[in-house]
Amino acid sequence: MSALHLEKVSRIYGKGDVEVRALDGIDLDVEPGEFLAIVGPSGSGKTTLLNILGCLDSPTTGRIVYDGTDLHGLDETGLSAYRRDRISFVFQSYNLVQVLTVRENVELPLVIEARARSKGAKKADEIRDIALAMIEAVGLSDKADRFPRELSGGQEQRVAIARALVKEPLVVLADEPTANLDSHTAGEILDLMRGINERRGTTFVFSTHDRLVMERARRIVTLHDGRIASDLPSPSSAAGEADKRGADPAGRGIGDIASARRR
Ligand code: ADP
Ligand code: MG
Repeated sequence: MSALHLEKVSRIYGKGDVEVRALDGIDLDVEPGEFLAIVGPSGSGKTTLLNILGCLDSPTTGRIVYDGTDLHGLDETGLSAYRRDRISFVFQSYNLVQVLTVRENVELPLVIEARARSKGAKKADEIRDIALAMIEAVGLSDKADRFPRELSGGQEQRVAIARALVKEPLVVLADEPTANLDSHTAGEILDLMRGINERRGTTFVFSTHDRLVMERARRIVTLHDGRIASDLPSPSSAAGEADKRGADPAGRGIGDIASARRR
């Protein structure tokens, strides 16, 4: 079963003369464990698509099925519970809470979840242990008691990634997560995300227009004017996957691998 399934999804802003088709008939399946980049020029619909994948926005037409749940059938309360429990975001501007320490920022999703739940809520020390383990996983154990203003941009984004992971979401959505970082730090953040993807099987969908960042994806979906212009394994990962199968990388086109992946 796909983690995310989009069927003929369109999102139209405005009406009449000022109508903008930000998304226009998107069909997309994201399988569990994918590491997928959404790329395309500014205005092509990347943010709109991520917002819809994250239930921050609804399609004007079309259908979304999340891990077998048709979101159409959920009311606003159901949708926000779903978003809280199953979806995590990483933002370009990190969006850490400035008055909380690194550890408290990472604990926050679990604290919110515990308050929303009457049964089976996690205890404070359990939440603390999970947060500290995630902070260690992103390489920031020595910063757990620091405040965001004491960190570099790359470190702040590591905290945001740790925070995104604590509730073990169905998917982590990241809209241009490296846009405010220099290219070296951007590469480190992508390597961190990809390492987590490989070790923990966490599904990542992120947008970028940085070529170095998109090359670290395993699949690249290119948007153009709200439509999918191409949907391919990244050139580096196509070779890697062919190697793993013991096949001749030159003997099989990228298109073949893409269709094999979809089957
Ligand atoms: P990207 O993230 O690829 O730059 P966006 O998803 O932000 O693209 O935007 C896609 C299109 O939708 C653009 O033409 C943009 O101007 C338009 N758009 C985005 N958000 C809104 C909005 N809230 N109201 C009207 N138009 C919007
Ligand atoms: Mg955008």
